[in-house]
Amino acid sequence: MAPLHKGSDVTDSEHFRRLALNPFYGEADPVGGMTEAPPKHRMPEGPLAPSSAYQLVHDELMLDGNSRLNLATFVTTWMEPQAGVLMAECRDKNMIDKDEYPRTAELERRCVAMLADLWHAPDPAAAVGCSTTGSSEACMLAGMALKRRWAKRNADRYPATARPNLVMGVNVQVCWEKFCDFWEVEARLVPMEGDRYHLDAASAAALCDENTIGVVAVLGSTFDGSYEPVAEICAALDELQARTGLDVPVHVDGASGAMVAPFLDEDLVWDFRLPRVSSINTSGHKYGLVYPGVGWALWRGVEELPEELVFRVNYLGGDMPTFALNFSRPGAQVVAQYYTFLRLGREGYRAVQQTSRDVARGLAERIEAMGDFRLLTRGDQLPVFAFTTAPDVTSFDVFDVSRRLREQGWLVPAYTFPAHREDLSVLRVVCRNGFSADLASLFVEDLHRLLPELRSQPHPFTGDKAAATAFHH
Ligand SMILES: *Cc1c(COP(=O)(O)O)cnc(C)c1O
Repeated sequence: MAPLHKGSDVTDSEHFRRLALNPFYGEADPVGGMTEAPPKHRMPEGPLAPSSAYQLVHDELMLDGNSRLNLATFVTTWMEPQAGVLMAECRDKNMIDKDEYPRTAELERRCVAMLADLWHAPDPAAAVGCSTTGSSEACMLAGMALKRRWAKRNADRYPATARPNLVMGVNVQVCWEKFCDFWEVEARLVPMEGDRYHLDAASAAALCDENTIGVVAVLGSTFDGSYEPVAEICAALDELQARTGLDVPVHVDGASGAMVAPFLDEDLVWDFRLPRVSSINTSGHKYGLVYPGVGWALWRGVEELPEELVFRVNYLGGDMPTFALNFSRPGAQVVAQYYTFLRLGREGYRAVQQTSRDVARGLAERIEAMGDFRLLTRGDQLPVFAFTTAPDVTSFDVFDVSRRLREQGWLVPAYTFPAHREDLSVLRVVCRNGFSADLASLFVEDLHRLLPELRSQPHPFTGDKAAATAFHH
């Protein structure tokens, strides 16, 4: 009688009587691992055990700063564990594969629809938009759309004779300088003047001419957290059009503010309610409250986004329009954005952003009360404020303060303002979700403790200002 199970089939070759091995299953020789230090700047010849490789990478990363004490960045440094789980579940999904991951694509679409509604698009169903890797990519896309629209309107002059320009404040984030450089557009920058640290309506309109592809208004300047007067800028451009016929569109760079103002400043009119606003971007990973890697770009309607810039990819037997610089991109961040929208709703966002603003205002007041500092902004627009040393302070400067705070683990950038306020150097604090009132109190205590030493310095100590200037974009 034949056995039910056979140990092996006599017809199997030796090869098929073994399990398949994968190179990842092998643990390297532990003794070899101790004697052969892997090179740092050349790919090692052989493999390491995963546990050893993990430990090496993990240990080196311990020396990165503590992101929660980083008061320089606008980018989200804390999310709920559930968001982390969802992101881990989606880390294998490629955002561009709409056909393979149609539900992820659908969640992206819902996020765009929610933002169109939040930003008062006249017809949210007609607004077009997309996710990006961040505001930089979103600004590139918005700038490209502006340039292409202008080029089509001026086909008789461009590229033969006309050179396009973009009007904005000197305080714009560096992505706009990149845009102008990469896409060969002249950057027309309005300098700071006196106590005006951002773009004003009259100067913006004055710099526009027939080659202006658009004006960028920033909702939330990175230099001091102030909102630019978007409505006034639009009104000045309306007046320019009435006078000269020039019709200059506005792009709102709402990297931070487009996720703050809709919840905390509902009466402020800065978005698609202004007919001149043709596109808006935001960073999902700033006050959108998602870990790094997501931004959003939206256009008022299809006319604002030239059709030839749009590519189509397969989607459920049909096609789906896409607009992006990248092809492959992680889907996890988009899923996390949808989770956060669903999780918080408008009331939740309002509560989170109000808490950050309360922390910023409270902290600004306490710093002002110390007497050694002068506030430039008070944290009542973005939850961000900039301050400098009081006029009578001569023994230390903002660079000394930044350096000394760093010794306590706090990252607070100090930097010099651009034209025409190069005489002014400031410190800036960005309050984000996760920087609690308790942490803010610890910060105040640390600063208090440092002040006697700073006051007793014979003069400011930080010689190399450029080296002392921490990241502040
Ligand atoms: C942060 C920021 C950017 C760049 O955004 P990323 O999401 O970091 O690429 C652009 N503009 C403004 C006003 C910003 O604050």
